[in-house]
Amino acid sequence: MSNSRLFSDSKKIIPSGVNSPVRYFQPYPFFTKKSEGAHIWDEEEKKYIDFCNGYGALLLGHRRKEIIQAVSKQLKIGTLYCTPTQLEIELSKLIIGNFPSIDKVRLVNTGGEATMTAIRLARGFTKKKKIIKFEGCYHGAHDSVLVKAGSGSAHNGISVSDGGLDEVSKNTLVVQYNNSEDLEKTIRKNKDVAGVIVEPILANMGLILPENNFLADIRKITRENNIPLIFDEVVTGFRVSTGGAQKHFGIKPDITTLGKALGNGFTIAAVGGRKEIMDLLSPGGKVYQASTFAGNPISVSAAISSLKTINKIKNTLYHKLEKYNLRFTRALDDLATDMKIPHQINSTASMFQIFFTKKPVVNYETSKNADAKKFQKLFQSLLKNGVFIAPSQFEVVFLSDAHKQTDLNKALDAYQSGLKLVKN
Ligand SMILES: *Cc1c(COP(=O)(O)O)cnc(C)c1O
Repeated sequence: MSNSRLFSDSKKIIPSGVNSPVRYFQPYPFFTKKSEGAHIWDEEEKKYIDFCNGYGALLLGHRRKEIIQAVSKQLKIGTLYCTPTQLEIELSKLIIGNFPSIDKVRLVNTGGEATMTAIRLARGFTKKKKIIKFEGCYHGAHDSVLVKAGSGSAHNGISVSDGGLDEVSKNTLVVQYNNSEDLEKTIRKNKDVAGVIVEPILANMGLILPENNFLADIRKITRENNIPLIFDEVVTGFRVSTGGAQKHFGIKPDITTLGKALGNGFTIAAVGGRKEIMDLLSPGGKVYQASTFAGNPISVSAAISSLKTINKIKNTLYHKLEKYNLRFTRALDDLATDMKIPHQINSTASMFQIFFTKKPVVNYETSKNADAKKFQKLFQSLLKNGVFIAPSQFEVVFLSDAHKQTDLNKALDAYQSGLKLVKN
């Protein structure tokens, strides 16, 4: 069936025809039939190079064989027990082995659940109320973090979501990314701060890198004020290094959230941190958190296999992805420069984004000021030419281990065609 027919069916019974906002784009999204490696195919049998990669989840590519094998094996002996399993111990040991800041970890299903739990833990630990977040950081779709959030919330121009309680959002203080003085000032003015949550690399406003000593400074400020620092590593967790951005930058947060690449395409996330904080979780402690599907053996098997594979190939994986990314973004930069298109490209590890603006993109405001209409032109052109990137300026291109140089060459040709349209 055609994508347009499917969309007209879908929007009658699914709000806006999609189950997550950024999936919608004009005039209608394509409907995916299958995926393999670096590619996805739609219901019209059109093949795309996948540069969205499950918003970063598919670090090892679609249907990675080790993971499919591990999950197939588990399918034969059970999908949901709702009792502890040995598998959960194995996965927790792997996570703790990769993240020295994590003494104990609890498995959840989604990144949003992980940050919700992290924030509740920080409040439970400090017995304080307010949370500080940074403009443009996205931490999932729950009330206390849906304030000046990035991702689909920025894309759709929602600063505070309708239906969210003022009582909640007024307890969320927002400060500028890459501005540790703003954080310091805000903490000085507010004695009731329970925690600071940050994306150590901002991957939900396009891509924004932490400048100079930003992360070291916020670590110092939070430590001096006895405020737990939460690193939301749902994107960066296994993407920037085996031990996330915290390993890369050498900074130890008090609480860490993981998701996306943890399960390489299966539903799993985690919240971990210092023992004295994590032990506050129920039933041993009084901070409540629970889920029917938490630690289910299918997702846990996928994550074990994912982490084992990552740890096994780490010496080549990260270097290769970085090399591909660097080569690609340099070539893209040359193309745009030759065409005299004002632009910025932010990139690191296996992620990048292009912005159509003269000014360096270093925070929410400078990202918002880039020409999003030009970006939409680029997106539509890439799509036409068989390259699928996330349909928003405020998302990021993710490479996976499945991308080959030939895929990247094709994608670069598609970007070149797209830039020609942007120019006009
Ligand atoms: C995607 C994302 C989340 C939310 O994860 P879900 O699994 O979509 O709930 C949280 N934090 C960051 C940094 C993310 O990119």
